[in-house]
Amino acid sequence: MKKLHWSIQEIHDAFDRGEFTPTELVQEYLGRIRASSHNAFIEVCEARALEQAARWDKELKAKGKVPKKQWPLFGIPIGVKDNMAVDGVRTTCASKMLENYVSPYTATAVERLEEAGAITLGKLNLDEFAMGSSNENSYFGPVKHPTHPDRVPGGSSGGSATAVQAGLCVASLGSDTGGSIRLPASFCGVVGIKPTYGRISRYGLVAFASSLDQIGPFSMKVEDSVKLLDVMSGQDPKDATTAPMLKGQWSEQIQKPLDWKKIRVGVPKEYQGEQGEIDAEVKESMQRSLQWMKSQGATLVDVSLPHTQYALSTYYIVAVSEASSNLARFDGVRFGTRQGAQSDIDLQSFYKKIRSGFGAEVKRRIILGTFALSSGYYDAFYGKACRVRRLIKQDFDQVFSKVDVLVSPVSPVTAFKAGERTADPIKMYLVDVFTIPANMAGIPAMSMPCGKDSQGLSIGLHLMGPQFGEEKMLSIAHAFERDFVRKEMHA
Ligand code: GLN
Repeated sequence: MKKLHWSIQEIHDAFDRGEFTPTELVQEYLGRIRASSHNAFIEVCEARALEQAARWDKELKAKGKVPKKQWPLFGIPIGVKDNMAVDGVRTTCASKMLENYVSPYTATAVERLEEAGAITLGKLNLDEFAMGSSNENSYFGPVKHPTHPDRVPGGSSGGSATAVQAGLCVASLGSDTGGSIRLPASFCGVVGIKPTYGRISRYGLVAFASSLDQIGPFSMKVEDSVKLLDVMSGQDPKDATTAPMLKGQWSEQIQKPLDWKKIRVGVPKEYQGEQGEIDAEVKESMQRSLQWMKSQGATLVDVSLPHTQYALSTYYIVAVSEASSNLARFDGVRFGTRQGAQSDIDLQSFYKKIRSGFGAEVKRRIILGTFALSSGYYDAFYGKACRVRRLIKQDFDQVFSKVDVLVSPVSPVTAFKAGERTADPIKMYLVDVFTIPANMAGIPAMSMPCGKDSQGLSIGLHLMGPQFGEEKMLSIAHAFERDFVRKEMHA
């Protein structure tokens, strides 16, 4: 198995030809994980994965060919960000607080993938409780960038993006509250999709900011992420925020020929770095992508989303407020380790002891959030931020009556050096300036590779679509990948 990156289709073809079995494939990936030094996995669930593989071995033998209709992800090895529950496996959220917590059930998203044939190899490293942009906030140590070891892979789903690019799994799951799928996808040169809020059940995802969190896939190719989306999407009675929409059938839809002449691509002026904060090479790469779309017949439309400037600051009120409330359960009574706390101490000291188990960034957010929600301030901060959020959403609604998709860079910079931004939280937060508005508005958005800078670091193109309008965004991404990225970018 010489190939580093296998697509789902290629694996199914190889199964059909009898080149290898699901178990052999899983063994190959387990070997790679053992040999890797990226620190992408927090836990490998070898026995569980091999058990699943054995089942698919039997099916394959009995049927002769992969029963794709019944199991579209038959025998596909995946990784799961370690803030999603997998039955019988630890869910640590990269926190000391949950170091030994074993999940008693499986998250709906993962369960649906496994029911479709996917095999979970293990749990992927992240920033503690998904708070961060560089994967340097993990209790289990930082994740190394897959191709440039002195760089960060991006966060918070750094393990998920790294594992795919390093060939440690075929696809993976991440969560995106303010950009945590798209930023690492961009930094690591893989595809990462955050669907519309409500598209995929959050049941079994440890909550960071419940009104923003959304699960999504990573893979090398758009097509494979779309296959995962199809399987995961759809209403779940266990998550009241999932929308009563039909399941996605995007895998078929994206294969239809795309008539670029009918596509209107919005280029928001607020994402052009008028204050000069975008790397010249990032900007150039985006321009090249836009010009290519134009050359295919697409109409480029200059648009404006005037409330963009408030997105980052309001996000850091909404996200920390919801986080402070969600993380209250990690108190050593309901959840969280009691390690180090004597049983005879008074309640105050007990809480102090337990709650100091969080890392610095998580503590910072809990303190900020508690302040923003405190009596007398709630309306001035959280209430106001929610009202501004509505304006951000309205900007998008208006623009999407004129265009099919919005294009921007994912991040103003490419993967930065490890340690470069850790001392300055604001500098770290600014990396997400282009990804956060999509979470505030609940719209679908994705990152896909569109070029490289002079250091060989990947540059991500950011596509945003209207709420529940994944189809066109995914079709555009697929066509762009097939005809530009695979042909011209590598030419
Ligand atoms: N980097 C952002 C934050 O730290 C986004 C995190 C995320 O999407 N989970 O909040």
